Amino acid sequence: MSDFTHAEWRTARKRHQCYEGAHHIEAGQRYLHASGIFDGGFYASSTCLPCTSFRDLVGEVDDSYWEGYFGGLRLWVWHEYWNEVSDRPMGLHLLRLSRLFGRNWEGLSGELDAARARMHGLNAARK
Ligand SMILES: [Zn+2]
Repeated sequence: MSDFTHAEWRTARKRHQCYEGAHHIEAGQRYLHASGIFDGGFYASSTCLPCTSFRDLVGEVDDSYWEGYFGGLRLWVWHEYWNEVSDRPMGLHLLRLSRLFGRNWEGLSGELDAARARMHGLNAARK
């Protein structure tokens, strides 16, 4: 049986547990709903907007964090892998985001946008 994933953005009608962090997605908030078959088992997950953005950024800077690795952010932050990513210019952004993630995004303001802007700048400079 082949693995597959379907992912779509939804607006929460009720409270969900975020798949990545120890926090909730409240009714009315946007979240990424993913479902599919993996290793022969069905799964479904709901991930909040900040965690989804953070996960995308980590996927870009860390080659061993494969794209779409769901549920791996806690371990990535816990093991302080931002120290090891080769892309040093992103190091400070990743440290900040890791700390905010650890506080369940409390106090989040423009950090995700700043990190994304920096990433786009770095990607553009590489081309
Ligand atoms: Zn989350």
